[in-house]
Amino acid sequence: MREITVEAAVVGAGTAGSGAALNLARSGMRVALIEHRRFEEAGARWINAIPPWMLDFAGVPRPEPPEACDHGMPVAIFTKNDAPCFILDPSPVWKTDMRGLVRRLHRLCRDSGVEMIDRARLDAVELDGGRPAAIRLQREEFAADGEPIVVRARLFIDATGLSGMLRRRVPALDSACPPAPPEHLCSAMMETCAIADPGGAKAFLTRLGAPPQHVACWFAVEGGFSTLNIFVDRNYRQADILVGAATVKGAKTGPAMLREVKARHPWLGAAVLSGAGLIPLRRPYDRLAAPGAALIGDAACQVFSAHGSGVGMGLVAGRLLADEVSRFYDPGSEPATWSYAAAFQRRFGATLAAYDLVRRLTQNLAGEETDRLLTSGLLGPDMMRFGLDQKLPKAKASGVASMAKGFAREPRLAGRMALTAARLPLVVAAYKLYPRRPDLDALAGWSRRVAKLFGEKPDLGG
Ligand SMILES: Cc1cc2nc3c(=O)[nH]c(=O)nc-3n(C[C@H](O)[C@H](O)[C@H](O)COP(=O)(O)OP(=O)(O)OC[C@H]3O[C@@H](n4cnc5c(N)ncnc54)[C@H](O)[C@@H]3O)c2cc1C
Repeated sequence: MREITVEAAVVGAGTAGSGAALNLARSGMRVALIEHRRFEEAGARWINAIPPWMLDFAGVPRPEPPEACDHGMPVAIFTKNDAPCFILDPSPVWKTDMRGLVRRLHRLCRDSGVEMIDRARLDAVELDGGRPAAIRLQREEFAADGEPIVVRARLFIDATGLSGMLRRRVPALDSACPPAPPEHLCSAMMETCAIADPGGAKAFLTRLGAPPQHVACWFAVEGGFSTLNIFVDRNYRQADILVGAATVKGAKTGPAMLREVKARHPWLGAAVLSGAGLIPLRRPYDRLAAPGAALIGDAACQVFSAHGSGVGMGLVAGRLLADEVSRFYDPGSEPATWSYAAAFQRRFGATLAAYDLVRRLTQNLAGEETDRLLTSGLLGPDMMRFGLDQKLPKAKASGVASMAKGFAREPRLAGRMALTAARLPLVVAAYKLYPRRPDLDALAGWSRRVAKLFGEKPDLGG
């Protein structure tokens, strides 16, 4: 048995875990980064869209080609019947090859002195008075050198994605972080494929009235919270397809949606790369940390719910975590881990929660209602731009005019939107009041107040 002692041990080497390990090491800590798979297979392995400001915040240099596939790719929105709504050109997101980003984060971690351990699965957690003191990693299923490893640390970080493998083994977090129910999960699939018939691809874009090198985007393709994006490159060589839908009763899975898209568009050819998975859509867990443990990324539900994007917020959370806990002698002490949770919820929890309210509204709309939202101006380019950039909207003259037009055209739909809109400032204000100092009673009270705004059971104190 090998034994390693560090100050912080990060479990899961996807973007959230690697970004956190990097920032913790940069703040002067001894850090281990632990991954179940081989490092070259860790995290998301497909093309994702990321607002570059989130990389800046996390201290990760912006990607260059080929890792950055497109800077500010234009996004064209269509109704279900392919009527054009509007185009965001440029959009605020960069198409990024996640394989390149994860590889680069691992290289930065190595260069910063992080101890890198792959092919090691978190198997057990040793608790001392409820606080994790050590974790045991299982390796025998992998290699001849597969002796178990015990890692001792003051702070353990769960970056294992939706599975929350560490979270589930720390009683204080397990009891406060219920698994996301199906209606708050999105089944998604992304595929980059060869274009088998460039003529077919051209005919498709001509019919849409869209040029290549744009993302054509449809909402509510399966009703409720669902989407289809198709991107055709300027040389008609490759296409990217993204599909996703909330896993509500009767909904199709991402892989099933993708199969149907390819059957409908025979000009799409063989897959070059692809990936599928479940994305948590609920607002972040109310409790993000306990003594000796912190959650980041999908394990914390730090996902921008309106479009199921978790890469940027996971990176942002890793930076905040390092900034906060490095101020304390014991980075796993209750004041240290709590200060990370409070900093995240006060600064970014409000944004994630506000857009989660909007996502819940759209999830309950029929497909043609979503189309009317887009064509009436109730959901116009200004709002969409803020959403893609993962920022709270600011009132702009053009946006207000578009919404006013929408109110006049679709008063009933506008009325439903107004009910959600009225709760948004309350949600934002509530998150700004997340208890600053360790106080579980205050947190339970806060959790109940926020849950009331969402009309659901609180994470704590229910
Ligand atoms: C098809 C699809 C498209 C998406 N598109 C976008 C997009 O455009 N933009 C965006 O921002 N987000 C997108 N997302 C969401 C995004 O991919 C996730 O939010 C993000 O990858 C989460 O990062 P993470 O580091 O928290 O978790 P993960 O990427 O899931 O990484 C977790 C890591 O932990 C490891 N691990 C798990 N269990 C253990 C264990 N027991 N021991 C050790 N290691 C373990 C895993 O092997 C993995 O490497 C998409 C998701 C899907 C499925």
